[in-house]
Amino acid sequence: MSLSSYRGRLAPTPTGMLHRGHGRTFWIAAERARQTGGQLILRVEDLDQARCRVEYTAAMIRDLQWLGITWDEGPDVGGPFASYTQSERGPWYRQVWRQLHATGWIYPSLHSRKDVQAALSAPHEADDNEPIFPAELRPPVGTGSDAVEPGDVNWRFRVPDGREIMFHDGRCQEVRRVAGRDLGDFLVWRKDGLPSYELAVVADDHAMQITEVVRGEDLLTSTARQLLLYEALNWTPPAWYHTELVLDEQGQRLAKRAAAQSLEELRAAGVTAESLAAEWSSS
Ligand code: GLU
Repeated sequence: MSLSSYRGRLAPTPTGMLHRGHGRTFWIAAERARQTGGQLILRVEDLDQARCRVEYTAAMIRDLQWLGITWDEGPDVGGPFASYTQSERGPWYRQVWRQLHATGWIYPSLHSRKDVQAALSAPHEADDNEPIFPAELRPPVGTGSDAVEPGDVNWRFRVPDGREIMFHDGRCQEVRRVAGRDLGDFLVWRKDGLPSYELAVVADDHAMQITEVVRGEDLLTSTARQLLLYEALNWTPPAWYHTELVLDEQGQRLAKRAAAQSLEELRAAGVTAESLAAEWSSS
């Protein structure tokens, strides 16, 4: 039996091999669950079927096991909130779309990424490189309110311009983002019939009763977006812990480099899981 009600998760996207940076974040997530006597869930975020591959899912499970990480629920072990594979959770995401649609916060957006770029007189991006959606491209309030299904258009969340979104992070302390300045109207549904990352993650973290989300600090602005979804859906958000990103010798983010050394390569080169854990626990 679990000693606490802590429920954490590992949510990898199987578009490539896990590298040292992923390993560190997942190791910290596993440690936080272990130290509190809580539970850990593995969820495969494979919505982008064009880029995700089952071989990567298998490799990822191997790498996590090699690191000594164990989970209580997941695609390989099952659990009360199955499926733990996002590509199998379509009906749930549609239900959340309907719930969100009923709140009036989302609208269908016919503008392409190109239109958005063209409407921006100067490059205006959030710190995660998402273009800030120009307010002049917003349709009037109420547009699309008669839709019963998302259909084949993009849907965006209308952010409350000027609202400060503040949250406490277990490592970064107080984090603040201003809607309309640091983040713009963001995608919740894609015209190819899939939920956006923001919608799917919120839908699943809520459904799987996650109490703390541990992930890289490159997602801090996404957390602000996700908090707007929690609020609109009237759901209680989890606690947050954003890990520091691992940089290479040139100060570049590992994720940005195609050649970032994978855990598999490190293993083949004789690096042990114990030495990595020792490095991560002292950092
Ligand atoms: N699948 C996402 C990623 O790999 C997960 C992010 C998250 O933990 O919310 O970036």
